[in-house]
Amino acid sequence: MYKISLITGDGIGPELSDSAISVFDTINDKLGLKFDVTELSAGDKALQETGKALPDDTVKTIKQSDACMKAPVGESAADVIVVLRRILDLYANIRPAKSYPHMPALRDDIDMVIVRENTEDLYTGKEFSLGNAAVALRIISEDASKRIAKYAFETAVQRNSLKKVTCVHKSNVMRITDGLFAKACTEISKNYPDVAFEEMYVDACAMNLIRQPEKFDVIVTTNLFGDILSDESSQVVGGLGMAPAANIGDNFALFEPVHGAAFDIAGKNIANPSSFLLSIKMMLDWLGNKHKDSKCIEIGTKLESTIFDLVKSGVKTKDIGGDMSTIDFTRHITDNMQK
Ligand code: ATP
Ligand code: MG
Repeated sequence: MYKISLITGDGIGPELSDSAISVFDTINDKLGLKFDVTELSAGDKALQETGKALPDDTVKTIKQSDACMKAPVGESAADVIVVLRRILDLYANIRPAKSYPHMPALRDDIDMVIVRENTEDLYTGKEFSLGNAAVALRIISEDASKRIAKYAFETAVQRNSLKKVTCVHKSNVMRITDGLFAKACTEISKNYPDVAFEEMYVDACAMNLIRQPEKFDVIVTTNLFGDILSDESSQVVGGLGMAPAANIGDNFALFEPVHGAAFDIAGKNIANPSSFLLSIKMMLDWLGNKHKDSKCIEIGTKLESTIFDLVKSGVKTKDIGGDMSTIDFTRHITDNMQK
């Protein structure tokens, strides 16, 4: 049995969480694996009710679980996810982008993953005023760079694809910081002779993601560049409603959709739960690899192919051109997973 902590979030978060719970119930009842899911509060609602966006009890329960699922959080997102990434040392942010049939992707053969360093760069909050100027410190360390590079190469080895790592930086301008990042990636690449390695400036990468997205396999990059490029790559394959993400450390992992709380559509039963359910698929892969549990991986593959097949047959939510409600789409998924 796996213990899963589930942050239900704000905006469309509770609707996506209900959808996720239906999927876990189906797995428990029909597919022969057991997930004990505990719903937790964090985010805007938690802040109003308890005065803390990330209550201590929530953190305690997450630490006792095998993995955490996090639905999107509203205004207080940074006080939840950035803090959790630090507390749990979730140093790798993994954002796959894959073209699905009948989705508005730029090409039908895109299959890449962005491996974004999650702990340093301009995200450490070291900003200050200096006279009339404002200064932000960009921290890039050798240890963190090598750690994320290793993660990217291991990812490339495991994937059934091009076996290529593209290191994205801007070392022609930021010679010291990005110079260090590029050097760390180059050094790690020598341990992986079977994986091709290339370097690309971030501006060229932004262009190539639109020009030739099918040429990418694994992109490894620093925190801010990764943030920007992964929003771009999610649009390249057809939108935020289908975009999952994982935050991974050596001992723990947290899974969440790429998108935010989307208050404009909250409570209307129209949100696309696929981003969150594909995050469950990433969780099943991670648990399966960690615990050598092939059943987890099998069910994850089933969940993903069920979503693909439904979308392909025209069963889809409004954001991707269909008319299914969140609840009805979820019911189609749980029904088809049992077949
Ligand atoms: P953030 O503050 O993190 O940017 P947000 O609430 O603005 O969060 P975005 O992730 O930027 O949300 O999403 C932009 C818009 O895309 C939403 O307002 C919504 O209309 C649409 N959207 C996002 N996710 C989904 C989804 N799962 N299903 C349907 N529409 C979505
Ligand atoms: Mg937004």
